[in-house]
Order: sequence, then structure tokens, then C-alpha cells
Amino acid sequence: MSIMDYFAVHIVPKMYRGKGALHPSETGKLTDMVSCVREYDVNIFFIHKGDTLIAIDAGYKNHPGLLPGCRKIGVDPGKVQALFLTHADPDHAGGLDVRQTNHFENAKIYVGETEENYLTNTYHRKQIGPIGLKNSVAIKPGYHLLKDGETARIGDIRVQALLVPGHTLGHLCYLIDDTMLFTGDAIALNKDGGWCFFSLFNYDSELNIRSLHVLQERLTLSDIRYVFTSHNGYTGDAPSVFRHIDTIPDIRSKDAVFDETAPYDCFADKGE
Ligand SMILES: [Zn+2]
Repeated sequence: MSIMDYFAVHIVPKMYRGKGALHPSETGKLTDMVSCVREYDVNIFFIHKGDTLIAIDAGYKNHPGLLPGCRKIGVDPGKVQALFLTHADPDHAGGLDVRQTNHFENAKIYVGETEENYLTNTYHRKQIGPIGLKNSVAIKPGYHLLKDGETARIGDIRVQALLVPGHTLGHLCYLIDDTMLFTGDAIALNKDGGWCFFSLFNYDSELNIRSLHVLQERLTLSDIRYVFTSHNGYTGDAPSVFRHIDTIPDIRSKDAVFDETAPYDCFADKGE
């Protein structure tokens, strides 16, 4: 197991339990068009429109909850036509890794052009003193690289890539049909609204804050019906998502709880 994978499934759960930082949606249908599978602390999103089925992110490597979760929501991952990665971290791109079974075998894969540097290990994911941590995910060649602002059309679904660097340097948010925003790991969300994502995981939190301001200016918030985060559920109140973006939630102090309604430990049961 790589250091990054070990960190994701052994260190993070211990550091984060009881902090209320991780509160993904449970597996199920969220809106008319969107359903999700929960894998531990993260969501994979599926968007249907007519005969078109796309996904945002691929979850962990070999997660045992993927297929039971997909069955529960009536989705065949083999029928996903296009899969859009917000970024290349193991909890988002692991499900496409070449060293495990890829259940999204027919999907065209989209990833940000800068984010590719983590897949090729041109960039280190995180620098800890002299040690540069490498990303642990490798995906099959043939994926499509998205430029900032580029729009992909899959059947009747329009997906616009919006570069929001900070968590990783090539992190993308996706605006779908101008009405649904998928923020990946750019925003942490609780009952008070959205915040800069938790600093431990960010490559550069100050950059993330600046990027969120740029994102806010690019969006027409009155058109957005839903905003989905990868680790903190979703909301129908789009303006609230930008309410606290200048603040990095401090969850290090002993009594800090970001979301009182979050489970004590998302990793205790796998999710499906
Ligand atoms: Zn994540």
C-alpha cells in the first residue's frame, strides 16, 4: 500500500473521527437527476438525463460498497458514458486505478489538464519537509484533458469545467446544465454554509480561498439549484456556499466539531 493510500484509509479516519468534518450523503436519490453512492467519507455522483448517464468521480480503489450501492440506486456503472474527475486523489480517482477492477469500463474519462501532473507524478501531492508525497492513482491512457472553462456535451448534458486550484493545483469544479454545481474538495459545508476546505488536505489553502472568490464571480448563483460537495453533502441554497470561503475551519482543537449532525466515524461502516 502506498503512503497516500495508507494516509487516506488509516490516518485520516483516526484524525477526523468525532470532528464532524466528514458528512457525505447516504447512498440514494438526491434530486430528480442526481443520485449518489457513499464510500466511507466520499460520494460518487451519478447524473441521468433521458438516456444519458454520467458520473462525477470514481471513489476509492476496490471499495466493497460500490456495486451494492449502485444496485441500490439502480445504476449500472458499466453504462456510465462519461466520468468527470474533480481531481486525482485516491478517494476520487481510485476507482479507475489500473491495479484494480475498473467498473466504469465504458466511460470516457475527463480530468483537468493541470491535474494530469499528479497522475504522471510530475507533481508531488504534498510536501512534508524534505519528503514529497506522490499520488497513488494511475489510470489508463486515453482520457480527455479539460481546459479551464471548456464545456463537454454528453448526450443532452452540458458539463463545464471550472478550474479551482488550491486543494490540488488542477482541481476542477463542474457546472452541469448551468443549474448544478459539483465542488469536489474545494468547499466544506455545514448548516452555516460553505467554507474553505479543511487545510490538512489542501496543497495551498490560501490559493483555494482566492480560487473560490474567482469561482463565485464566474457563476450566476441565481441559476444554480443545487450545489454538491464530495465530503459534506449538498444544498439547494447556492449563495450560502460562498458565505465563509475566507475561513479555513479549525478542527484541530479538542472540542472543535464542524458539523454536529455528522457521524462520529464515516469509516466505521463502509457505506454502499
Ligand atoms: Zn476528497
